[in-house]
Amino acid sequence: MKRRLVTSALPYVNNVPHLGNLIQVLSADVFSRFCRLRGYDTLYVCGTDVYGTATETRAAEEGISPRELCDRYHALHTAIYSWFNIAFDKFGRTSTPIQTEVVQDIFKKLDAQGFIVERTIEQLYCEQCNRFLADRYVRGVCPHCGYPDARGDQCENCGKLLDPTELKESRCSTCGSQPKLRSTKHLYIDLPRIKDRLEAWIAEASVKGFWANNAIQMTNAWIRDGLKERAITRDLKWGIPVPKPGYEDKVFYVWFDAPIGYISITGNLAADRGEDWRAFVQEWWKNPDEVELFQFIGKDNIPFHTVIFPSSLLGTGERWTMLHHMSSTEYLNYESGKFSKSKGVGVFGSDAMESGIPADIWRFYIFYNRPEKADALFTWKDFQEKVNGELIGNLGNLVNRTLSFVTRYYDGKVPEGKAKAEFWNTVRAYEETIREKLDRAELRDAFRTVFELSSFANKTFQDGEPWKTRKDQPELAANLIRDLCYVVRDLAILLHPYIPGSAEKLAAFFGLTIGNNGLSWQDLGKLDGLKQVHNTEVLFNKLEDDFIQTLRERYSGSQKERSEREKEQSMNTPESSAIKSAEPAQEQTANESIATKFARLVDLRVAKITHIERHPKADKLYIETLDLGGETRTIVSGLVPYYKEEELLGKHIIVVYNLKPAKLRGVESKGMLLAASATQSDGSEVVEVLDASFAEPGSRIQIGNIPLSEAPAEIDIDTFFSMPILAKDGVILIDQQPLTCNGKPLSTNRVLQGEVG
Ligand SMILES: [Zn+2]
Ligand SMILES: [Zn+2]
Repeated sequence: MKRRLVTSALPYVNNVPHLGNLIQVLSADVFSRFCRLRGYDTLYVCGTDVYGTATETRAAEEGISPRELCDRYHALHTAIYSWFNIAFDKFGRTSTPIQTEVVQDIFKKLDAQGFIVERTIEQLYCEQCNRFLADRYVRGVCPHCGYPDARGDQCENCGKLLDPTELKESRCSTCGSQPKLRSTKHLYIDLPRIKDRLEAWIAEASVKGFWANNAIQMTNAWIRDGLKERAITRDLKWGIPVPKPGYEDKVFYVWFDAPIGYISITGNLAADRGEDWRAFVQEWWKNPDEVELFQFIGKDNIPFHTVIFPSSLLGTGERWTMLHHMSSTEYLNYESGKFSKSKGVGVFGSDAMESGIPADIWRFYIFYNRPEKADALFTWKDFQEKVNGELIGNLGNLVNRTLSFVTRYYDGKVPEGKAKAEFWNTVRAYEETIREKLDRAELRDAFRTVFELSSFANKTFQDGEPWKTRKDQPELAANLIRDLCYVVRDLAILLHPYIPGSAEKLAAFFGLTIGNNGLSWQDLGKLDGLKQVHNTEVLFNKLEDDFIQTLRERYSGSQKERSEREKEQSMNTPESSAIKSAEPAQEQTANESIATKFARLVDLRVAKITHIERHPKADKLYIETLDLGGETRTIVSGLVPYYKEEELLGKHIIVVYNLKPAKLRGVESKGMLLAASATQSDGSEVVEVLDASFAEPGSRIQIGNIPLSEAPAEIDIDTFFSMPILAKDGVILIDQQPLTCNGKPLSTNRVLQGEVG
């Protein structure tokens, strides 16, 4: 078995990724999780692509250094991928000393082999700023439409691509003075001279690595149109220095250094561990006989991975681990148009985090709908239908009915019995198909086959009528339920690469784990090892109409329109306008994690319940009097179905201190207490009020290590609920950061997994 090196396209750092961008990172995650479960020695690396004009410009606009900008966005990317549960071996970045060394080394070898040529070109130079201007740093009158402020690379008004020398009345975008043409030297990679090597490699690799059709077509088109020399240097500061006399003021063009990031990030992984990074790079990247490279990209990135990056490697004359399989997806479109980073249209990673919908539900839909062979469309309606129909109606139903049957009629013990050969022949055939497809990185087809298997198992349950046979033919019922338990266990393994959190939960119902020393791909179809079913709960909650409608509205239009909408709303609520207008909403999503936002906006405090009585006009409500360390307040809460008065009296609870007061059946509630809740497998709701008996009334709650904000303004309930708090394994988390008081984390005893509100 060869080792598997997996990469996903390096996301450009200066933006928040949307669902369309996330597909690559998620796809490579599924594939590498599958490879690990199959027992392959696997390495998955990715990271942010940081250099280039776009970052430099953006940083200048924001008045910070490019490095600061990259740090900020790198953290944001990291938070999003971690929320989506992506198991990178390393998520790095291209601004590292190892990257500089590897890039310069590859360049020197290309130069020594004669594949680097020098050309003199005419370029605009600003004498005031003392530098050559990148295309987009030149402004002037558009020769096509007369727009007075057109950018040198493209007119924002008519959209035409421009050469900066075409602009009339051109000026430097930094100082405004008129730039002059000056000749300057640049270095080019001589692709025409590498062509023969490249073509020979493509002919072999595309077949061996079963490249997707779009990859083969686009690559052939590139070669047919003729390969040209390509500039690899630029007049910029934010980039990797060019190690050649006369090029001290230039850096490498970002397209040249970015794909080399895959290699340097691998090196950085070893460096992090204190190992010899050069040896580690050698082992993975200079080892074509033992390592297969799988790359996950969007189709717009194909030529860089099949032509340009391979040329850089082939031209060195060394034996590299070259691209084996290329999984290049088509586009994911949004409602009626395209996802667009520049226009801010679509669902962004930060939106998904704030949506209140768990990561696995997003993962489910992204893979179920992965644009594998054709463009796919994201619509909220389809999202809701697929989640409710397939994930819950098919899979959730099978798990629920099988396990409840065991709990109810077999006292939680997986019944003894005999396996039905015919049934298992079918199951194993499905499993073999899934493995074959996954081995070829056909993630969507494989995923859909998992649901076909689940559907087959559901039908078997239905046709077997165990609720009848249980009485008159108990052996038949036991055999059936036993078979179905093993299928459910198999489904946990098959689903693990796709929805790891839910699959682990499912395995835990049998007291098992997945991966490491737990279940692996080799356990599929094995008919022993299951004993007991316990602690079952509902895996997924249905997406209701009004909830989906709210999300559709919240995420409609561009990010700009959204933030204007939010501003408008905040104008109507004067209390909160102070915070919101100080910092536009888009800035918040771009720069701030949910945890920081929560810490900035929300004031949580410990309060002691000193008096409690039933609400005279409402069955479910209590009216509680609170001591907040000197201050007294009244709140109203709907806890009657879950707690008796004496159970709550004297408790040290957590209250949302700065929540806008609300009248509940005529009684004003100044704040809200926090409780964790979860739905049990029988559909009933368990509720546990958060308790901080160890803390004095009035103490404030901290989020992770984020400093407490000083007296935040009042917030409305929607803002509060837009930042979901969760109970996970009994720990209370917001955005993966624990809620603590005096350094001690808040925890639950009964509702270990659930939502807090
Ligand atoms: Zn124009
Ligand atoms: Zn200037």
